[in-house]
Amino acid sequence: MSSSYLIRIKGFTLPLSVASEGAMGRTGSWRTFKPVINYSKCIKCYLCWLHCPFSVISKDSSGVVIDYEYCKGCGICYDVCPTKAIVMVPER
Ligand code: SF4
Ligand code: SF4
Repeated sequence: MSSSYLIRIKGFTLPLSVASEGAMGRTGSWRTFKPVINYSKCIKCYLCWLHCPFSVISKDSSGVVIDYEYCKGCGICYDVCPTKAIVMVPER
């Protein structure tokens, strides 16, 4: 199942197909690291939202919010964040 959005990049409007939230199921207890956002460093570029392969990052007035029920801890959001506002912390 997928949803589609329209995004504007460098003056072009492009379709973006993303997986529906929960398409891969709830994560459960196997995740070893999870991303945590430092909002004081977030510049609301939405690259993490764009790149999350599981579509578990949503936009709100504070910037971006991660749904930990479905986040797999893959770290892609951490890798793409230009300001290092996201850190990967061990699960307890
Ligand atoms: S760790 Fe992976 S699944 Fe979780 S929010 Fe980041 S990109 Fe998405
Ligand atoms: S990639 Fe980093 S700076 Fe950009 S919206 Fe996500 S957390 Fe904020």
